[in-house]
Amino acid sequence: MGYVETKCIHCGHQFKDQCNSRNYGPIIRKCPACREEYIDKRFKEVAITGLDSNSLNAKFYLKCAAFSLIGAIAAAGWFYWRFEYSKKISMSSLGIALLLLILCVSCMAQVFRIKNGTQAKENEKFMQESRERLRNQEYAQKLASLGYKVPEEFLR
Ligand SMILES: [Zn+2]
Repeated sequence: MGYVETKCIHCGHQFKDQCNSRNYGPIIRKCPACREEYIDKRFKEVAITGLDSNSLNAKFYLKCAAFSLIGAIAAAGWFYWRFEYSKKISMSSLGIALLLLILCVSCMAQVFRIKNGTQAKENEKFMQESRERLRNQEYAQKLASLGYKVPEEFLR
């Protein structure tokens, strides 16, 4: 579980709200200050919108890993060249190289999560949670009344 900064659209109160890494989750949020409820468009109800199309795409993450690795090598090369020829330490290129390396590692980690089925299981869990929420008539009706397109199957 992570947290996002949220600002109430009614009273402007800023607060931290729960979310997961992909922003799947209840899209009706309740402000702790004024108790008003509203739709937060950053979140997705995956039983309605579907899951992130790249979440099970190993090739996508492999490409991302390859490009970030190439970028990291280029930035490291630039750092080396600057130091070699002008004795200047380029902190920015070092920083870029490190960030790209971290990106590369996290993309590779995602490739493994896809290959060993962890991501598919997690997707299934997100989908189930979303369906559970929508089966709650109060929640589904509220979503619809706040102007969100809710499929008929959830409105009975
Ligand atoms: Zn508020």
